[in-house]
Amino acid sequence: EGTNISDFLSEIVSPYQEMAEFEAKKVLLSVEVDQQVFIDRKRIHQLMVLLIDNAMKYSDEDAVVAISATIEKKKLVLTVADTGRGISEEAKKHVFDRFYREDKTGNRETGGTGLGLSIAEWVVHAHNGKIIVLDNKPKGTIFKVTLPL
Ligand code: ATP
Repeated sequence: EGTNISDFLSEIVSPYQEMAEFEAKKVLLSVEVDQQVFIDRKRIHQLMVLLIDNAMKYSDEDAVVAISATIEKKKLVLTVADTGRGISEEAKKHVFDRFYREDKTGNRETGGTGLGLSIAEWVVHAHNGKIIVLDNKPKGTIFKVTLPL
């Protein structure tokens, strides 16, 4: 059964948009594709939640988290871009490793297990896709996922 990618992402993002109101963070969705795709809905939902949760977690109060979907060369390209603290070159090499965390102090606010992105990468690889991390401009981080359709 095909999934309309625009409806699918709206469903994922809507709880964040409600939450964003009182947390002053903005979650924006820009979906350029309005077409049916065949994806593993449960897994891709899990993947997007992992990336969006991180984008919120590693951003300040007035952050903007932008989610986009496009189709390029018969591939679905999903991006989650934030305007948060960004990521160091060293961390970029390790973010997908199990238990890797840039902040090792165990800060309560940004606390976590360091497993999220290793699960994200596992989901993407299970779909023969790719996930990369890039710098956002002027600041912040972008996670870009490419999935064959
Ligand atoms: P958990 O998975 O339990 O939330 P975590 O967030 O520490 O814990 P990952 O999701 O695997 O674990 O992320 C690994 C590390 O990558 C984080 O500790 C953080 O340093 C960095 N990171 C992940 N997403 C972002 C982001 N959007 N901006 C900046 N750094 C990030």
